Amino acid sequence: MKQSNGQMPGSVEAAKTYWEQFKGSPADLYLQARGLEEGVSTHLPGFVGSARTGHERYRDHLVIPYLRPAGSKFTATIRFRCVRDECVKDIDGSYFFLKGEKEQHEQHSKYQSLPGDKPRLYNTSALIQPSAYVAIAEGEFSAWAVELDGVPTAAVQGVSAWKDHFDNSFAGYEKVFILGDGDEAGRKMTEKLAERLPNGVPIDLPDGEDPDSLRRSYGPGFIRQLLGLDS
Ligand SMILES: [Zn+2]
Repeated sequence: MKQSNGQMPGSVEAAKTYWEQFKGSPADLYLQARGLEEGVSTHLPGFVGSARTGHERYRDHLVIPYLRPAGSKFTATIRFRCVRDECVKDIDGSYFFLKGEKEQHEQHSKYQSLPGDKPRLYNTSALIQPSAYVAIAEGEFSAWAVELDGVPTAAVQGVSAWKDHFDNSFAGYEKVFILGDGDEAGRKMTEKLAERLPNGVPIDLPDGEDPDSLRRSYGPGFIRQLLGLDS
């Protein structure tokens, strides 16, 4: 299924098709509500309105392309995030996350990878920035939020998605800020990566918060402060 360069077949074409369906879509509105619209032109998300053959199960999902630093022609894979109204919005039409409530993805996962794909690092462009520090976030949109504060940030798909060979990507930095979400799984991720990475700096997020909720609540610049980058 995989090509020898590790690219999932069809990813480039799919990313392009779904990017063309993004503007004004539920995915667009969802990212705006999360305060992440500034990241759109960099990360080129998509929306599955009309699905490509074989992608019917991803209809009404936000599409997250795993771009390579060399550009969108080298998209490694795509992932899908459910943004169906009945899952992400309450009966009054407001997003659950804006009320601090859990989304209702019943009988299906919130995120899906292509069949046969393996866990990957997201936003590897962060790793070629000329910077003494870098951050690791839990989840793709958390990486957007931290990066909007001027901190190059890669993301992992969760604590169990870390692979041994990822360690090397973070060698040589003065500091690697580790920002798991402010919940049990997130703290576990922060703890585990801080143990693995000798230059890892664990950052504890407040209970129930993630980088984009902090950005919404406290505005741009707050995450930099939290990392001790600005006084
Ligand atoms: Zn759902």
